[in-house]
Amino acid sequence: MTAPDPERTTPVRHLYVHFPYCARKCPYCDFNSHAKREAETEPYIDALIEEARTWAGRVVPETIFVGGGTPTHCDAGQLERYLAGVAAAFDLSNLREWTVEANPGSVSAAKVEALRRVGVNRVSMGAQSFHDHHLELLGRIHGAADTARSVETLRVGGIERVSLDLILATPKQTMAEQVYDVERAIELAPDHISAYVLTYEEGTVFTRRMRQGRLPPPRPERELAHLHRVCNALDAAGYARYEISNFARPGEESLHNLAYWRNVEWLGLGAGAHSHVAGRRWKTVDDPARYIESVRAGEAPTEWSESVEPALQLFESLMMGLRLIKGVDLDELSTRHGLDVRDTQAATIARHAAGGFLTVDGSRLRLTPRGLDVANAVIGDFYPE
Ligand code: SF4
Repeated sequence: MTAPDPERTTPVRHLYVHFPYCARKCPYCDFNSHAKREAETEPYIDALIEEARTWAGRVVPETIFVGGGTPTHCDAGQLERYLAGVAAAFDLSNLREWTVEANPGSVSAAKVEALRRVGVNRVSMGAQSFHDHHLELLGRIHGAADTARSVETLRVGGIERVSLDLILATPKQTMAEQVYDVERAIELAPDHISAYVLTYEEGTVFTRRMRQGRLPPPRPERELAHLHRVCNALDAAGYARYEISNFARPGEESLHNLAYWRNVEWLGLGAGAHSHVAGRRWKTVDDPARYIESVRAGEAPTEWSESVEPALQLFESLMMGLRLIKGVDLDELSTRHGLDVRDTQAATIARHAAGGFLTVDGSRLRLTPRGLDVANAVIGDFYPE
């Protein structure tokens, strides 16, 4: 198995676990998710637990995030077996947040009971839309009414924190429908809302349809208009935008995702999971069958692995940190990476500050509201030569 520096004594504090199965593949999705492979579930769970055991003692998680796929696309017994099995490998005495992703339609009282029993305290639910015709176009297995039912099941079952995901500016979605969606989400009173504009990813059914003229192409000005309306509605309802696409009630930010945006270390377990530990990053093989085979054979299920040089580490910290509304602390980045972006990229900072896209306040660098609208382009300019 892939191992960090044997001399290393500081345990990894953030753990990601990937469950790669779904009831059906959504046509816009480019995640590592596979449908109709239920027969693989048991061997996959065995492999996941086995991989977790190889990391015992080197991970003391403060946050765990179980994503997919659909982590709840298995029965309650299997859900409890893999969550408890992975958790048993680690010291959970510092655990503050344990999130599991779920989809409306894959949540039952028995599964919620399993989540609560193992210690999950946060569920992130893929609501996506509150219109049946848009959910159908998105290929989702649930209807609009299922989301409210699932949120109720979570609350009755004792899950303390609930986040809802929305997809914005979906094909043919009107602004009135967008406003309705965010209002329905707010009515359910989640602690946190993630709102991502739909993107056409390479290799997806949606992208093929778009190229065939069967779906409208992206229109950035329309997407921004939808995003701005959603931001305003969430702000008025008390959800602060703390990252480009994420909104939370006070104190309800996702601690796990904050770790990614701060570019700190995390370990990923399971097929297709990424890890970033001790200056190295690596990715596990995508195909669950190959993953299972590798773990059974006692081999590292690694697709690729590389060390990250300081200039690239600094860029990655900027790339992730500038997504946060409060931006990054340049003194802190300089101490961490041994390079100061104020020396290496002074011209880029000055140009974007003059253009109104970036602002420097003491040692803090952040995107302005104008910069947030074109964040990828501004951040891309910091890529080291
Ligand atoms: S449920 Fe989520 S992970 Fe699964 S196919 Fe749909 S978008 Fe992808």
